Amino acid sequence: MKQIGTLFLLSLAAACGSRPKPLPRIAIAGLGIESSTFSPAITDEAAFHARYDTAVFRIYPFMAADSPLRGRAVWIPTIVGHALPGGAVTREAYESLLSKTLDSLKAHLPYDGLFFDIHGAMSVVGLDDPEGDMIKRIRKVVGPHTLISTSMDLHGNVSRTLAENTDLITDYRLAPHEDAMETKRRAVEDLLARLDDGKGKPAYKAWIPIPILLPGEKTSTRIEPAKSVFGAVKPTLAQQGIIDGGIWVGYPWADEPRNHAVVMVTGDDSMKVAHAAEQLAHAFWAARSGYAFVAPTASWDRVLDSALASRKHPYFISDMGDNPTAGGAGDVTWALNRLLARPEFRKANGPSLIYASIPGPELVEKAIAAGVGGHVDGYAGAKVDGRFSPPAHLIGTVESIVYGDTDAGVETVVRVGSLQVIVTKKRKPYHKEIDFTRLGLAPRKADIVVVKIGYLEPELYAMRAGWMMALTPGGVDQDIEHLTYKRIQRPMFPFDKDMPEPDLHARFLPASDTFR
Ligand SMILES: [Zn+2]
Repeated sequence: MKQIGTLFLLSLAAACGSRPKPLPRIAIAGLGIESSTFSPAITDEAAFHARYDTAVFRIYPFMAADSPLRGRAVWIPTIVGHALPGGAVTREAYESLLSKTLDSLKAHLPYDGLFFDIHGAMSVVGLDDPEGDMIKRIRKVVGPHTLISTSMDLHGNVSRTLAENTDLITDYRLAPHEDAMETKRRAVEDLLARLDDGKGKPAYKAWIPIPILLPGEKTSTRIEPAKSVFGAVKPTLAQQGIIDGGIWVGYPWADEPRNHAVVMVTGDDSMKVAHAAEQLAHAFWAARSGYAFVAPTASWDRVLDSALASRKHPYFISDMGDNPTAGGAGDVTWALNRLLARPEFRKANGPSLIYASIPGPELVEKAIAAGVGGHVDGYAGAKVDGRFSPPAHLIGTVESIVYGDTDAGVETVVRVGSLQVIVTKKRKPYHKEIDFTRLGLAPRKADIVVVKIGYLEPELYAMRAGWMMALTPGGVDQDIEHLTYKRIQRPMFPFDKDMPEPDLHARFLPASDTFR
């Protein structure tokens, strides 16, 4: 049927004296991670879970084999890798993944378009602006005329190099990122639309650096002012003459000149592009003193006391400083050791508390040897980041052992008094109810649930009766005004209190095929 259809179309086209336009050739590439240089953790190549060739399609539900979008181009997927946030990426891992990407791109030239799927906050040991470096080296291979469409996390950084080398760009408009897949799809749709209508590169790219550096926990779009500021992106950009764009908060746990907020807008109408970009930049800047933590925030002891005194259960506590989904090592034991020292939790009938989670491969081995119901005595955590507290000494009963999680490998629950501590072989974020229930835990019935997280992801947010965020130490310390920055641009809000009004006029960047 398919062949007959194609033949019919071809003969129809021949009869009309025209040939059907060949499908555009579009490559897919990208590496995504946010990595903290304030953490001693290091990220290797395996952490990216890189997908090669056609396996790349499985990352994107909108690119399923039978999807309409898949039929609109000849797709050439190369390598796409997404790592859990962590410490800086080794230079070897970065060069290895990038050189494989470049080789794959060289093997299938030429391209009309390239979908560049990145996060934007990768740190690589000994290299500034890795995403800028990556797109420059990709540009060299694919040439100046290929239309590149970049999709990013709003916590990524848009350096001038990245902005100059990409043609189209967009990012998430929600934090937590419930629109992640929708954003990637929009980046692909933007690309297809410009190739289909023959307009190609946008006539104008406006880029505005904004001297603000904030943690994501202060710019959640669940609450004001970020709710309105980011809520305005879509209506502001929905105009004839504008293609896409966005507001980038940037990433505060790396110390480079590119770490700050940015607004970028692309389109063909210079006035509209500039005006929209300036409007968004002014709105983000004007709201600066209103950005605050998304939940009540206090020291660990005050937060735990509040949770114990509260009648609201489950009471969630964010152990924020070691949030592995922001770049923390995930094995800081500072909060866990404080829990183990509290007398309230010593007896089995004390307040029930689930602690998610701590990596402890040796303790996991002991738990496997003891079996469910068995007794364990061993240490967990502080292998990667032991700066704040030593390994936690857990003496208790094994309640469950579950194998096969992509991130954790093996997960066990160890009961110590009234604490249920999740001990994993490798670090894993706990964001969903099933992450708990599959281990036999009942977070809805627990008095307190402690998670290494900043703002709660949607399922836990919906489950919470109470919630506070604890200012704990770690690689993504939320108290960023106490971090030592040497290389970010100054003045910068909130570090320089009496800074002058910044220049928020749109900078028009040259098209990617004209500036070199
Ligand atoms: Zn993010």
